Amino acid sequence: MTTAIKPITANEPPHREPADSLAVPAHLPVSSLSHSSLSLFWRCPERWRRRYVERVREPSGGPALLGRALGAALTAHFAARIAGQALSLRDTDDLYLAEFDDGAPTALFKERDPVTDLRRQGRQALVAYLNRVAPSVRPTAVERRVELRFGGAEWSVLGYLDVEEADSVVDIKLRGRHVSQAEADHSAQASLYLLARALEGRAARRFAFHSLRRGKRGADIAVVSTERSSAQLAAFERRVAQTAREIAGCQESGDWPYAAPEGWWCAGGPMGCPHFRTCPGGTGGAKDPGEVVAMPERGRRQSLSRAA
Ligand code: SF4
Repeated sequence: MTTAIKPITANEPPHREPADSLAVPAHLPVSSLSHSSLSLFWRCPERWRRRYVERVREPSGGPALLGRALGAALTAHFAARIAGQALSLRDTDDLYLAEFDDGAPTALFKERDPVTDLRRQGRQALVAYLNRVAPSVRPTAVERRVELRFGGAEWSVLGYLDVEEADSVVDIKLRGRHVSQAEADHSAQASLYLLARALEGRAARRFAFHSLRRGKRGADIAVVSTERSSAQLAAFERRVAQTAREIAGCQESGDWPYAAPEGWWCAGGPMGCPHFRTCPGGTGGAKDPGEVVAMPERGRRQSLSRAA
């Protein structure tokens, strides 16, 4: 009988030697990776395939639109300051509203987050940020594009740094809850952007999330900072290389793993995955998420057998 798994004997090494940790494939099915595409692949390779290879568009929600509108207004604010000019509060607010109203007709709004509430909450957050936090920021660059490439690779890793200061990188997040310290300490975005600064030869000491929490009672702001050691940056670089090897492997075999079934993101509903009803990793094509899809008896016997 052939078995795919066997007990480890005392004479055998417990695991294979890892591949050269920075070896990467020359080609990927995409021309670039980003912190968000890497994070999506780590959550669910199948969803990554649908979004980046099949290019299935996912509906954009109201909160994402809110973040984009706020980001556009603050980018203009900081860019004006770098140029030695000043954008009035009113002009910045006008930019925010124009961006929000432009995207609103095609965005999806949840019942508990109607368009008028989100629009107002974004304005409150903008004003609070401009009054309380923005004056202490010393911007040197805004929305700067960085591109990293492994030797021999025809794909790259791209990033856009919200705001840079001499010794820090700032990212402004507007959400219904604050960025936690644990999230900041594990953030792929923070690791990637600090790695980019280090590779440019002007390492930043910290990555600061300017976390804006919106709500019915107004906006609340917190600054959550995180740092990375040289060893952590090197480990992140190896992780990106390993992920690229995994993507190339999936592409070659056509076998893209599904999300772990415990993952909250592998679910129906507005917070879940848009493919949940059609993906075999979700309801497997059942019309109702509660409906159980029966596994064919023959298929079950063929795919599983009792271990001898
Ligand atoms: S339903 Fe689950 S397994 Fe399928 S793409 Fe979505 S997250 Fe991945």
